[in-house]
Amino acid sequence: MKYLIIGGVAGGATVAARLRRLDENARIILLERGEYVSFANCGLPYYIGDTIPEREKLLLRSPEEFMEQLQVKVRTGHEVLYIHKDIKKVTVQIRGTGENYRESYDKLILSPGAEPIRPSIPGIESKHIYTMRTLSDADRIKAAITSGTIRDAVIVGGGFIGLEMAENLVNMGLHVIIIEKENQVMAPLDYSMACLVHNYLKENNVRLILANGVAGFEETGKEIRIHLESGEQITTGLVLLSIGVRAETQLARDAGLETGNTGGIKVNEYLQTSDEHIYAVGDAIEVLNPVTGKPTLIPLAGPANKQARIAANNIVDGNKDKYRGTIGTGIVKIFGHTIGVTGANAKTLKRENMAYLSSHIHPISHAGYYPGATRMSIKIMFCPDNGRLLGAQIVGEDGVDKRIDLFAQVIKNNGTIHDLTTIEHAYAPPYSSAKDPVNIAGYVAENILSGKVKIIHWREIDPADRNILLIDVRTPEEFITGSIPGSINIPLDEIRSRLDTIPQDKQIILTCAVGQRGYLAYRILDQNGYKNIYNLSGGYRTWYEANR
Ligand code: FAD
Repeated sequence: MKYLIIGGVAGGATVAARLRRLDENARIILLERGEYVSFANCGLPYYIGDTIPEREKLLLRSPEEFMEQLQVKVRTGHEVLYIHKDIKKVTVQIRGTGENYRESYDKLILSPGAEPIRPSIPGIESKHIYTMRTLSDADRIKAAITSGTIRDAVIVGGGFIGLEMAENLVNMGLHVIIIEKENQVMAPLDYSMACLVHNYLKENNVRLILANGVAGFEETGKEIRIHLESGEQITTGLVLLSIGVRAETQLARDAGLETGNTGGIKVNEYLQTSDEHIYAVGDAIEVLNPVTGKPTLIPLAGPANKQARIAANNIVDGNKDKYRGTIGTGIVKIFGHTIGVTGANAKTLKRENMAYLSSHIHPISHAGYYPGATRMSIKIMFCPDNGRLLGAQIVGEDGVDKRIDLFAQVIKNNGTIHDLTTIEHAYAPPYSSAKDPVNIAGYVAENILSGKVKIIHWREIDPADRNILLIDVRTPEEFITGSIPGSINIPLDEIRSRLDTIPQDKQIILTCAVGQRGYLAYRILDQNGYKNIYNLSGGYRTWYEANR
């Protein structure tokens, strides 16, 4: 058997290694158009920011090691130009010489990835504009920064890579501006959760320009001027364009392989393309999103690596190993905070016309009496009919990674908010509480679903509405530090004794710090005959972060 692999980084390198483990006698050739294979692209922002100072640590396996350890022939600087699927050959161009040759295969694996989007706007070809995908890209950016002539940088696009780069460029002493066309950074987060991130960025002196796009660029000699759609102009030494990626599907389309509406290569559950001898993995393929039931593109390293193993299994053992889809679980670190997402956010659910309920909580990362506990903000989305968990977002400092992975497993296994209440977790005071934040998210959602509490969201509150009475049940000391305009203060402990001051004919909205005391007040009012009551989901904290 002869296996040809196109693309030698996350997916391609993993396929090569797995194929060798399964088939000792095969000929395996890996074709990579770039200079390097098997490098840690996820580590590039940290190399630029000097968190990872040793460049060589990013090179996970060299072509020589591929040969020595796996008997895999790696050809860097070799770009596949065309797939002749009818005769099972590819045309390859050697980049340095321009020479072309043909290589045959029994099975071909595509892992060409996704390229950074470069919109065709004036000035886009400027040498001051960088994108980041390869180690060579990172080298160029690092060289520009360490040249000492650059004091500031503009990042266009507030996605995962843009935010990681913002932190790393700040660490390098640059003044950083992020320009984002939407009204929030990090599209997988909903607005109220993204607001927390906006505040972290501002606290770390990153200027955020939201809801404003780039109209064009203009060279000004040593610098570049950015013309914003709003008319504002910004001059800077370096622009990092980080507005998303586009699946590399030209080869597949030229060969007549099917692609989907998402723009990705279509594969079946065995990761086989529309040609039975060609498999495809990674950023270039569209996968099923089990939450929406729709095809989607999810350019992340975890899925690419897992798909690579499955594709290799199917190539060698026959199609037995099914890929179950990707729900988009991701995590990013920003200035000491961690943001985790999994499943669908509210925006996606609305777009897909999927009914959902959501709730916000702000539990602490571990037992409050043990030093170092910090609050995290959790938002979950679930189905109003059966409680199926649809999505989760967490922003916090400590323990976000553990919780987002728990949520992800429940979503991936088609679990419900009831499953969250019984999740068994490892507990000792430094790590969690006897009831983990994930359990609490389940309890709160169960209360909502069973009608024990009706909630209202920060966006739905109109303090000017004369028909509502906003009661803040925190202590007076907490109340004077800030409250929702128009709210009155009746501390939780006084609710029972002051029932005669709370009218029955108004809509009562209860609020507290994070939603817990509001819920307790709700239960008291509910059992005293009040009908038109709501608890503010996530309490004052959620309202404040979204409105500040
Ligand atoms: P790639 O790893 O991009 O490999 C594709 C390779 O194919 C490329 O090297 C390309 O040169 C080569 N190629 C394409 N066409 C041809 C051709 N015609 N002939 C020969 N070679 C070809 N994901 C996460 O989950 N977590 C992270 O923290 C994270 N951080 C990231 C940080 C950065 C800066 C970047 C750029 C990406 C990050 N990602 C992260 C995304 C992750 O790296 C990708 O999802 C993953 O690498 C996709 O693997 P792939 O094999 O599909 O594509």
